[in-house]
Amino acid sequence: MTWEERWHPLREEWVIVAAHRQDRPWSGNTIAAHKEPLPDYVADCYLCPGNARVSGAVNPRYETTFVFDNDHPCVSSEAPAELPPPPAIYRNRPANGVARVVCYSPKHNLTLAELQLGEIEELLKVWQTQYRELAARADVAHVLIFENKGAAVGVSNPHPHCQIYATNFVFHTIEKEARASRRHFEQTGRVLFQEILEAEQNDGRRIISENASAVAFTPYFARYAYEVFVSPKATHASLASLTAPEVRDLAEVLQNILVRFDNLWRMPFPYVMALHQAPTDGGDYASFHFHIEFHPPLRRPNLLKYLAGPEIGGGNFLSDTSPEEKAAELRALSSVHYKSAD
Ligand SMILES: [Zn+2]
Ligand SMILES: [Zn+2]
Repeated sequence: MTWEERWHPLREEWVIVAAHRQDRPWSGNTIAAHKEPLPDYVADCYLCPGNARVSGAVNPRYETTFVFDNDHPCVSSEAPAELPPPPAIYRNRPANGVARVVCYSPKHNLTLAELQLGEIEELLKVWQTQYRELAARADVAHVLIFENKGAAVGVSNPHPHCQIYATNFVFHTIEKEARASRRHFEQTGRVLFQEILEAEQNDGRRIISENASAVAFTPYFARYAYEVFVSPKATHASLASLTAPEVRDLAEVLQNILVRFDNLWRMPFPYVMALHQAPTDGGDYASFHFHIEFHPPLRRPNLLKYLAGPEIGGGNFLSDTSPEEKAAELRALSSVHYKSAD
């Protein structure tokens, strides 16, 4: 039983850990169990090769990854630059940017967890190229690369893909992490994330996978059951400056985690994956340490972690699980994907 608050140094907030709550009786909604296996091509999928999208554009017969501008962008360079000022204390500002989609593979049913190591490595290189290209634009202050996976996080099209939002603003979590990292560096001369890595290495109980230059762990301050951070060991402000061996190592650890996630309940494991990279607004982000965060919404195979009173009403996460126990569960799993092991 864990019953305490733990400080999240990157978000600068407390996480309430009440790990005896997992077994409380449940009579609410559960998430439907996995459905029939998906085919590798779907005629009306707007992401499959050769298919038409809503914009009328036709996808090429791509064979590896495929990047295109989102037909329904949440941010667009066509957003109005001049806005009428709001009344009184209210403030507004233009929101614009570029929204892209990256299909991982032409196969409709091939998730990131099932890609070959070389394919994940190639995807990381595509992310590097996208980040460099978009970051170079004067109107882009930040590049957010993320994947929503699974119906549990509201994904309408199961064709494996991630999204890129290159925006004229910096997302709030990144802003907070950058501020905390800079302040820590000014006060101590040390990179905050390096201190986290050191604490995790010294404790060891929450490390799930590592190799020469990359590591994956459930942080001490995890907000979600099965939350995992994947990062290079050396400090890089973004993916863009990783060397080829570092990309290879990161791909290996990333694959290891994705496979364990799927093996946990022998089903495609839903998550929100976000690459936390430094803003590209011209500031000094030498103390920002690039990492990938996984936020899985499920606590059990069919049970969602609901954001409710503490999270939405109060603004602090209440974790029902012990990060040490969840990390041990992930560590005990095979790193061979269940589909290829059968
Ligand atoms: Zn498809
Ligand atoms: Zn982060």
